[in-house]
Amino acid sequence: MNENPDCIFCRIVAGEIPSFKLLEDDRVLSFMDINPANEGHCLVIPKAHAPNLFESDDGSLAAAAAACRRVADAVRRTLDPPGISLMQANGPAAGQSVFHFHFHVIPRRADDDLLFNWEPRPGDLDAIGRLAERIRASLRQEPAPQKTMRLE
Ligand code: 5GP
Ligand code: ZN
Repeated sequence: MNENPDCIFCRIVAGEIPSFKLLEDDRVLSFMDINPANEGHCLVIPKAHAPNLFESDDGSLAAAAAACRRVADAVRRTLDPPGISLMQANGPAAGQSVFHFHFHVIPRRADDDLLFNWEPRPGDLDAIGRLAERIRASLRQEPAPQKTMRLE
């Protein structure tokens, strides 16, 4: 099923464009970003096409947010970065370049000078593919989900 043939992420969901997949279920797909802002940069998208946050449905948003937590935790256990940012852009002024709602999961260092909006540079596909395998292994070993969440 390809919801929107003009959308690159719908084509990835449909398997028409290859990707380094990390996690997939009925509602969401996560895969490596091929122009990583930092090593381990990956994306989480709802499968249902919506151009941005405002047009996404609640179920897709909830599923994507839960998948972000799982993927971010697997990235943390794989690379042990000092920090991880979730980023989500709406509109070209916010740096959105693919108009299918998505979250970025980006490992961070205090001195990485990462600016939101960064200049995309092609990554090393062999290295990205190897890292995808390591993060998938971490997903397979994930601990039991947290039962409670404290905000303080
Ligand atoms: P945005 O700029 O919309 O917030 O993020 C879109 C992201 O999708 C960018 O980080 C870009 O590198 C990534 N991207 C664009 N095309 C492809 C692709 O064909 N495959 C993958 N894996 N990532 C892509
Ligand atoms: Zn789409």
